[in-house]
Amino acid sequence: MSRIRLLPEILASQVAAGEVVERPASVVKELVENSIDAGARKIEVSIRRGGISLVRVVDDGCGMDRDDALLSLERHATSKIRTAADLAAIATLGFRGEALPSIASVSRFRLTTREPEAIAGTEIIVAGGRIETVRDGGEAPGTQVEVRSLFYNLPARRKFLRSENTESRNIEHQLHLQATGHPEIAFAFVRDDRVAFQLPAAASLLERIRDLHGAELVERLLPVEEPSASARIRIGGLIGQAGVSRQSRAQQLVFVNGRAIESPVLTAALREGYHTALMKGQFPVTFLFLELDPSAVDVNVHPAKREVRFRDPAGVREAVVETIRNTLESGRRDWQQQFQRPVVPQEEIPPPMTASPAPQPELVEPASSYVIPSRTDGEGPRKSSEAWPTESAINVASSSHQFQIIGILNKLYVLMENQDGLVLVDQHAAHERILFEELRRRMEEQGVPSQRLLLAQTFELAPRDAEWVERNTATLQKMGIGIEPFGQNAFKIDSLPTFLEVSDPVSFMRKVIDGLKSASNGSSPLRLGEDMIAKTVCRHAIKANDPLGYLEVEKLISDLLECELPYCCPHGRPTMIQISLNELEKKFGRKV
Ligand code: ADP
Ligand code: MG
Repeated sequence: MSRIRLLPEILASQVAAGEVVERPASVVKELVENSIDAGARKIEVSIRRGGISLVRVVDDGCGMDRDDALLSLERHATSKIRTAADLAAIATLGFRGEALPSIASVSRFRLTTREPEAIAGTEIIVAGGRIETVRDGGEAPGTQVEVRSLFYNLPARRKFLRSENTESRNIEHQLHLQATGHPEIAFAFVRDDRVAFQLPAAASLLERIRDLHGAELVERLLPVEEPSASARIRIGGLIGQAGVSRQSRAQQLVFVNGRAIESPVLTAALREGYHTALMKGQFPVTFLFLELDPSAVDVNVHPAKREVRFRDPAGVREAVVETIRNTLESGRRDWQQQFQRPVVPQEEIPPPMTASPAPQPELVEPASSYVIPSRTDGEGPRKSSEAWPTESAINVASSSHQFQIIGILNKLYVLMENQDGLVLVDQHAAHERILFEELRRRMEEQGVPSQRLLLAQTFELAPRDAEWVERNTATLQKMGIGIEPFGQNAFKIDSLPTFLEVSDPVSFMRKVIDGLKSASNGSSPLRLGEDMIAKTVCRHAIKANDPLGYLEVEKLISDLLECELPYCCPHGRPTMIQISLNELEKKFGRKV
């Protein structure tokens, strides 16, 4: 007796639906992709009760004749590919020929469609995969698909759905992805009979993002700088400036050949590109568009087509890292123009403190095991040695691109004025950024100067840690850590960077290894050095409430403006915030 049987067609579709139709948002995704592939200029999506009760997608695309409409509901029926060669270079969003039959097998389904020139259209009604009605119908040219009572015949699946609110949010996110990927198409979203958003066809990505997220976000985005011409990949779009980040990945969008995808390769590349411009645990804001030869990307790896495989992942990764770095760098150049140093005539520099002495700085880190590194100019630890100048003394001739220091708020924030209004600088974050870049420069140029320990020490590590140290010995040495193998899983350490004063080198090393290992798994030696610096400089930076004199503040600000990435500290927190005159006027009700 044979035990193997071919599945009935409907059951096979329901099995396929298990992969393709996870939740209402997947229905929306598949239907909207079909509308886009059909050349629609306008797509309207309506949902009720989180899409569980209804999903309706109406488009003005090419429509179908009756035969095609019937065929579109068969499994493996598609107009988008014909041969294996087509499969190797897919230019449409769909290609599997599975979505419509899958959706129709797990819902009450209605398709009406009409070709632009046809006199009549077609209406097909399906319930749980069985065609119930086929008749003339369809009003406007285009296609309308209605999906009601999703999973009504698969109660087990239905139980996995989340609250209506969550499902609605998933749908809205899905629509944001599609709308961002296709600014030229008008989108409308109606949720429980109320218009949630209506997006006119946009002339550019920037316009679409403004319509979706508001002008404020757009102001903080940078147009992407194309990678070098040699690359076989084109990259465009907009990304957040350094310091712009989110707690979730909701605005980390990446499109490959017009398709929104999730890719560990690209996520890692974004992180690497932003590096210290991103706060730990935060995600960048990106609307990044990669264009590759279709044959260099395999989209046939995920049933919902959410993932892709690159033929040359390393090349893609490199191009993205380079693009992000260059873009952030160009953002810095534009930004710096707003903050050129004022030209302070010599005699206007305030005299050293005479009246009311500023309080002596307290020792802020009493039990510290570190010493403050000497500044490049050899000033040594900072002291409040000058008083604040009087009004007149800082009344610097204000030409267009200048800033003036106004004062310090709460012993922490430097208040400045520039052409656009008020600027607040977090002096602690600013100092971290300055030290970070200075140490990194030194490390790149000559390696970090190191100091011999009185007594070399040996220690043992767990095999995995030992393996990590062996791989990174050269980099650690360049960072001023004199470490070398000393037998099986054992190491000897005989010197440390001069700027560190560590009482217990071994426990210090264990901490450093722990920290660096998790921070920079598998990344470049330079990155490793940067992580090490970022992790240690923080301790040396001016503490929040160190009182600073005017000259010190001025130096701090001008040093900051010289930095490569001045607007955030090495941990990605902002160093400065601009409050424009415009915003102030609004707050004071001078302007609406
Ligand atoms: P795929 O998109 O992978 O081809 P689908 O099951 O999603 O598979 O759709 C099957 C076919 O039905 C498509 O190839 C297309 O020819 C046709 N079709 C689906 N939706 C539309 C639409 N909105 N407008 C025009 N044709 C459509
Ligand atoms: Mg499709």
